[in-house]
Amino acid sequence: MKEKKLFMASCPVCGRGLFKGAADSYVESGCPKCKSFLKIQFTASGFEAHVAENISHSPAAEEKK
Ligand SMILES: [Zn+2]
Repeated sequence: MKEKKLFMASCPVCGRGLFKGAADSYVESGCPKCKSFLKIQFTASGFEAHVAENISHSPAAEEKK
């Protein structure tokens, strides 16, 4: 069985560690520390994190898996 590589994404604004994700996955969530809303794309080599300018829904409504 192939082991999935997990990356730890951190907030690009305040640097707080936020999520673990597998390559080729995507997460949107709010940072609990600085309240930025983040869009994080995990890739085969790491992750890219972007701050969403417009918050369209409450950061408190985080998705849980
Ligand atoms: Zn933050």
